[in-house]
Amino acid sequence: MARKVRVRFAPSPTGPLHMGGVRTALYNYLFARQQGGDFILRIEDTDSQRFVPGAEAYILEALKWCGITIDEGIEQGGPHAPYRQSERREIYLKYALQLVESGDAYYAFDTPEELAAIRSEFESRGETFAYNYTVRTRLATSLALSPEEVKTRLDRGDQWVIRFKMPENEEVRMHDLIRDEVVVNTSTLDDKVLYKSADALPTYHLANIVDDHLMEITHVIRGEEWLPSLPLHYLLYRAFGWSDTQPEFAHLPLLLKPGGGGKLSKRDGDKMGFPVFPLKWTSPTGEVSRGYREDGYFPEAFVNLLALLGWNPGTEQEIFSMDELIAAFSLERVSKSGAHFNPEKARWFNAQYLKARSDEELGALFLPILREHGLETTPEKAAQAAGLIKDRATFVNEFWDLSHFLFVAPTEYAPKAVSKFWKGDIPSHIVELRALLAEVNDFSQAHTEPLVHDWILSREYPMGKVMNSFRLALVGESSGPNLYSICEFIGKEETLRRLDRAIETLGIPASE
Ligand code: GLU
Repeated sequence: MARKVRVRFAPSPTGPLHMGGVRTALYNYLFARQQGGDFILRIEDTDSQRFVPGAEAYILEALKWCGITIDEGIEQGGPHAPYRQSERREIYLKYALQLVESGDAYYAFDTPEELAAIRSEFESRGETFAYNYTVRTRLATSLALSPEEVKTRLDRGDQWVIRFKMPENEEVRMHDLIRDEVVVNTSTLDDKVLYKSADALPTYHLANIVDDHLMEITHVIRGEEWLPSLPLHYLLYRAFGWSDTQPEFAHLPLLLKPGGGGKLSKRDGDKMGFPVFPLKWTSPTGEVSRGYREDGYFPEAFVNLLALLGWNPGTEQEIFSMDELIAAFSLERVSKSGAHFNPEKARWFNAQYLKARSDEELGALFLPILREHGLETTPEKAAQAAGLIKDRATFVNEFWDLSHFLFVAPTEYAPKAVSKFWKGDIPSHIVELRALLAEVNDFSQAHTEPLVHDWILSREYPMGKVMNSFRLALVGESSGPNLYSICEFIGKEETLRRLDRAIETLGIPASE
């Protein structure tokens, strides 16, 4: 019987989650939901030296913001609790010892000083030191020392580590769902530490394999940077006798810098002005990194753009809701090669989501911004304003700049626009226009737009110039949404007042 799909996202709380990490979580989540499986969050915090306070809470908040819901994890609990490895510490020693017993691992007693000395000795001969089959029987290991000596050292409380005894010259054949077959010769690999007596904790490799086994994980979907660890993981499953139930693996392509090659880094974001983290992060030393959330992205847009960084649906469709992603996602369509991040495209995604939101929803987001500018207005007015400008915005945080003139009359007029449009006969046409509008009672766009157009045509005035000057009077500059929609929004009195103010401030040049 096929096993129920169970995947895990297993971050180490060593800092804020990079957008690549969120993508890993997302692909795991999409796969789990599509397969009717479970999505597990496991915190891999066995490396106490790299632990960063606040990182775990950040990870949880980032996943929540993205709408990635967890079935089992540190907050939810579950049948395999606890889900934080530091709280599972007593589980791992038994497994490390099992491998020593079976001859797949051994004790090593070298102190850091001894290792440093050996390393520099190798370097002085122009060689690089690797802890592997060439040296393990000559160093302070249970493979070299007598059983009595090993016992004495253990009883005495000497510090030790347990290392995996990597087989010599064996081809390990592995299968990856994205890369197909991967073959590595073990002679290129070293004897990784699995457990350290100093802190009574396993290393990543041991804890990861033991927990994936105990938590009945069926698919490991993770970043490409873990591909070099795959042979060791295969051999660990074999050494434990768990090969039959070992998970399938899928290593996701790297996220690459916009344009050039190389991994997307935090510095690229700073340099090119885009976030690489989902949420703003303040490091323990006070360094602040911007986040997609704080920059004004909708979580749906962020999820959508991340989903397409490394996966493609095989169609032209670009806009996907989470449910659509769940339906369409497949590991087979994840690419092997790195995915270039395109900040321009990221903004485009947000603009699409913004336009798709109703005026009422956007108005509700705009209201607090208006309040920050000292304006108390109704939800209806805020929605109406949002509707007028949403096609020209990428983020809600641009709304004020795009629409302040709907709420506050201009006090200045852009000098360039003034010298370009407010000249010749045009100002006197504006005086006429003011008189015309003073007679109009229905200020809806549907009414004023044809009325003013017909009037300009009947007088044979230059349409563009009159309109630009009219706009200058209402907005203070030469851009903005449809003029008549502005008139409708601000109403008759305010329209006339603004025309009067412009006429008075800019004056009517004497006709030539
Ligand atoms: N703790 C590892 C990380 O931080 C997990 C790697 C894996 O998924 O096996 O990425």
